[in-house]
Amino acid sequence: MRIGVLAIQGDVREHILHTEKAGAEALPVRMARDLDNTQGLIIPGGESTTIGMLMAEYGIIDAIKERAADGRYPIYGTCAGMILLADKVVGLSPARLALMDMAVSRNAYGRQIASFEVNLSIDVLGAEPFPAVFIRAPKIVQWGSSITPLAWYEKELVMAESGPYLISSFHPEMSPDVRIHQYFLEKVRQAAALVDAS
Ligand code: GLN
Repeated sequence: MRIGVLAIQGDVREHILHTEKAGAEALPVRMARDLDNTQGLIIPGGESTTIGMLMAEYGIIDAIKERAADGRYPIYGTCAGMILLADKVVGLSPARLALMDMAVSRNAYGRQIASFEVNLSIDVLGAEPFPAVFIRAPKIVQWGSSITPLAWYEKELVMAESGPYLISSFHPEMSPDVRIHQYFLEKVRQAAALVDAS
């Protein structure tokens, strides 16, 4: 199983290392053709306007959307990656994939608490809390019935999934815990099994 990590901005190396620790091969994706050998994609955090603009310029938005059209190409978007998966963005909105029925608001935790770390309880990962690092994180301000909530922080939804797509408003690659990457790999395995069976 091979996972692409979008390598335009952000913690590309950390996502590759976490994915490898979680049990799959990982490779950087810089151009549309790099997607060819991947069964899933991670979009790291960074600045969503910049990442979206370069993705559009390199033809990666269209290439991913084509691949995602049959609903069997799992994508995990963290922070800016989550913004790129949302079909609505409040205010200045970047070019993006718009594959999930939710609205997000950028940099929404306010200046004083622009970055913070909390231990989150995430049922699908088991009893042990997950150390979550938030950096100028977006908030999910509205979502449709296709979205399944997976974790909350002070009444804010901070992790969710919808079919093959997974998002978190925090950065899982900044702590040594690889359970979210493992959870994503399980989604990729399931999608690959569907592809094999068809
Ligand atoms: N604030 C960034 C944006 O709006 C996201 C921050 C991040 O990815 N850590 O794109």
